Amino acid sequence: MNVTIIGCGYVGLVTAACLADVGNDVCCYDVDQDKIAILESGGIPIHEPGLHEIVARNKAAGRLSFTTDPRRAMTQREAIFIAVGTPSGEDGSADLQYVLAAASEIGRHIEGFTVVVDKSTVPVGTARRVREAIAEQLAQRGVDAMFSVVSNPEFLKEGAAIEDFTRPERIVIGCDEDVPGEHARDTMKRLYSPYNRNRDRMLFMDVRSAEFTKYAANAMLATRISFMNELANLAERVGADIEAVRRGIGSDPRIGYHFLYAGCGYGGSCFPKDVRALMQTAQEQGQALRILDAVSEVNAAQKQVLVSKIVARFGQDLSDRSFGVWGLAFKPGTDDMREAPSRVLIAALLERGARVVAFDPVAMKEAQRALAADLRGEPEALARLTLVEDQMDVAANADALVIMTEWKAFKSPDFDSLKARLKQPIVFDGRNLYEPSAMDELGIEYHSIGRSGAP
Ligand code: NAD
Repeated sequence: MNVTIIGCGYVGLVTAACLADVGNDVCCYDVDQDKIAILESGGIPIHEPGLHEIVARNKAAGRLSFTTDPRRAMTQREAIFIAVGTPSGEDGSADLQYVLAAASEIGRHIEGFTVVVDKSTVPVGTARRVREAIAEQLAQRGVDAMFSVVSNPEFLKEGAAIEDFTRPERIVIGCDEDVPGEHARDTMKRLYSPYNRNRDRMLFMDVRSAEFTKYAANAMLATRISFMNELANLAERVGADIEAVRRGIGSDPRIGYHFLYAGCGYGGSCFPKDVRALMQTAQEQGQALRILDAVSEVNAAQKQVLVSKIVARFGQDLSDRSFGVWGLAFKPGTDDMREAPSRVLIAALLERGARVVAFDPVAMKEAQRALAADLRGEPEALARLTLVEDQMDVAANADALVIMTEWKAFKSPDFDSLKARLKQPIVFDGRNLYEPSAMDELGIEYHSIGRSGAP
């Protein structure tokens, strides 16, 4: 099939590469000329394991192309995916300007029947607005092209995006009940058939329910995390070990093990903004979503938990102190720094006068950009932040090591070498990577989340 993907970010590029890899002719369109230039010259603008190889293979085979030319991208395509960003607007609602700009662009160029697939995470009712934006442009052109807008939310996880896209647990598709909707349903079935072989994973539903499903899924996952974080803080007070509790409850199949890890808060490009957007939708409907209010509030507080522990240990004034930070990306496997807890921690340490030396296995460039933006207008604080290329270098003469992302490379470090570099053997672990008893044996003062009761 001939397919176009609008937006070459984490979702768009993975979707494009995977669809090309099963034989489709895929054109990637983006308004960001730098991104397209990188892709055309054989580079990849984001870090996603395995993506480089698939892009290179399909580019070489002539199945994957990149352009900033909307005419080339959008005429005579069977399906056009919208995979642009939907960041939070000022009031917390999803900012649809990029989605609607993409829709208008589609309306300016399509000629014959086209299935428009909304892959961006968008509030209920957005498909209708996309339809109107396309229809408006078609009317202006006096063109009578048939089209259908389908909602096909994406559930991939950064860091495991290829696996998630090619072996999905479910493929949610919201189609209209009319004739174009029926055509669209067939197109989507054909497009996804390579990923739907050993059992039927396709869930067809109405468009509004499909749009809602994505928010419901992310809100549920965020709720599990905040729930465990709040219990972890209580576990510390009552002398219980949240890791033991996690295993104890996760073994119940009604609960399951996923997303029950206590830590220093969730971040990323999805959970925070999607929870906010769902709350905003509820507010527009005059309904409170009290659980999600609490989920957000708990998460904001949790991003400060390590700061509180550091202040309790060293005092409010950290001006003579230096901290090494391991992990900057919001989670392992990605260079995504959007709403990463590390940003909150680093800003808080710098604000109290500390020096910070930080390392991340892949997010250094993104981190540099994000932290410089956070500290714009505070050059003196920014000067106290150093990013280093070797993970052991963060510990040199540091008062403590702080762990913010659970990268594999941090799971079994050379503790002797770490101890030799640190001014004093103190570790604040926001991801509960180590056993408290083992750290005790190593003579390391270990502060983790919800584990004061661990042996
Ligand atoms: P991203 O910011 O990485 O990429 C978006 C891309 O769209 C950028 O390259 C940008 O230049 C481009 N763009 C913006 N406006 C455009 C326009 N009018 N025409 C062409 N290109 C345009 O975003 P992302 O992380 O890939 O997320 C995309 C959508 O998918 C969001 O709605 C997000 O919530 C959703 N989503 C993201 C993930 C994830 O893990 N990142 C997972 C599931 C769903």
